[in-house]
Amino acid sequence: MRTIIEPFRIKSVEPLRHSTAAEREQYLEQAGYNLFGIEARHILIDLLTDSGTSAMSTEQWAAVMRGDESYAGSESFFRLKRVADELTGFRHMIPTHQGRAAERILFTVMCKPGNIVPNNTHFDTTRANIEFTGARAVDLPIPEAADTQARLDFKGNLDVAALESLIAVEGPGKIPLVIVTVTNNSGGGQPVSMANLEAVQRVCARHGIPLYLDACRFAENAWFIHEREAGYGSWSPKQIAQKMFSLADGCTFSAKKDAFANIGGFLSTNDDRLAQQETNLLILTEGFPTYGGLAGRDLDAIAVGLEEVLDPDYLRYRIASTGYLGRHIADHGVPIVEPPGGHAIYIDAARMLPHIPPPQFPGQALAVELYRHAGIRSVEIGSVMFGEAARHELLRLAIPRRVYTQSHIDYVVEAILEVNARKQEIRGLEIVEEPPFLRHFSARFRQL
Ligand SMILES: *Cc1c(COP(=O)(O)O)cnc(C)c1O
Repeated sequence: MRTIIEPFRIKSVEPLRHSTAAEREQYLEQAGYNLFGIEARHILIDLLTDSGTSAMSTEQWAAVMRGDESYAGSESFFRLKRVADELTGFRHMIPTHQGRAAERILFTVMCKPGNIVPNNTHFDTTRANIEFTGARAVDLPIPEAADTQARLDFKGNLDVAALESLIAVEGPGKIPLVIVTVTNNSGGGQPVSMANLEAVQRVCARHGIPLYLDACRFAENAWFIHEREAGYGSWSPKQIAQKMFSLADGCTFSAKKDAFANIGGFLSTNDDRLAQQETNLLILTEGFPTYGGLAGRDLDAIAVGLEEVLDPDYLRYRIASTGYLGRHIADHGVPIVEPPGGHAIYIDAARMLPHIPPPQFPGQALAVELYRHAGIRSVEIGSVMFGEAARHELLRLAIPRRVYTQSHIDYVVEAILEVNARKQEIRGLEIVEEPPFLRHFSARFRQL
């Protein structure tokens, strides 16, 4: 059989609520044309983010009931530790309330003012936490990643030559760690190859620099390696993931992505001395080392999710369904970041709406139009989010895990193609009110 089906059936449902076009117009006006300001109950299909929005399985809900809420030495911690140890092989696993808490602790311990931290592409919280320590976050994506239309198998790779020259110019003493983000979220959810990870590892080892993974989507990355990289077709996703982790000295992880959890994360390392310092900080800001800011039931849900996500049937469906959305709109003339990534499809709004210049926010204009037309929420990743530093004007459609069926995605495809058919009518926006930072969350706009 060629048809790829959702590898689950539905036991518990949540109603979706339709709204009328007139109601949506009113919600848009009230929210100042910022979709973050619209109440979730007024959204039909929510593609704002894949973070913390997964559907948990019956096994995860059962694990929630088993959660041990002991303050110290909870059984839930040891269940998560067993799963994480087997998967990652790292000596220490420190739970945190989400990925950014792991980042803050890691960089507080490792970075000093004047340091430089390279990454294939820093996620925004990663960059912010590095810069908060006075260090500098440097993105080293491969040059081809700048071309949204280039179709590369591993477009998330780190530019190894650029890493070598950065180390040569700055000196290894200024670089406390190198990070590789799998998959490369800010770069379009594009995967990193095992060969690239190995090459980065060799450079780091030669200079005595620790290598960390930002492992939020490690399983999606493992599946791309399974599908695309020579020599890995017969490896299981788990074996591939284990090899990826074995190349690193530690990782940060947000359980809100590939662990199907609604909250949680962890920080892992092989360095006993660092782990001690990290644990001290954890106690100060997150909690006791066996719960780190989470309830016991959250630790149990993460433990189960970490195993479920490596199911080949799940990963085949997951990556195919993201590609399905991407191909169906791209093959009908909607420019997307090629090729489709793991967790999201990014529409190149500057290319789709050339009549709207970047200062009039083509990505935001498209997000507003898609909501107005069909009740779909997406998010701008462009000049609203990054101001003049924006390199592209994108609209991200992130796909929550195990939440929407193919008919939901077909509805999204139809809506996008209908909007595309009358795209000349879409008007730009101007900002009428904005906060001093992270303006995309609360800025208000006016239609031009
Ligand atoms: C989500 C994410 C983070 C931060 O995790 P939170 O749980 O949202 O704090 C860090 N890096 C990447 C690549 C992410 O996608």
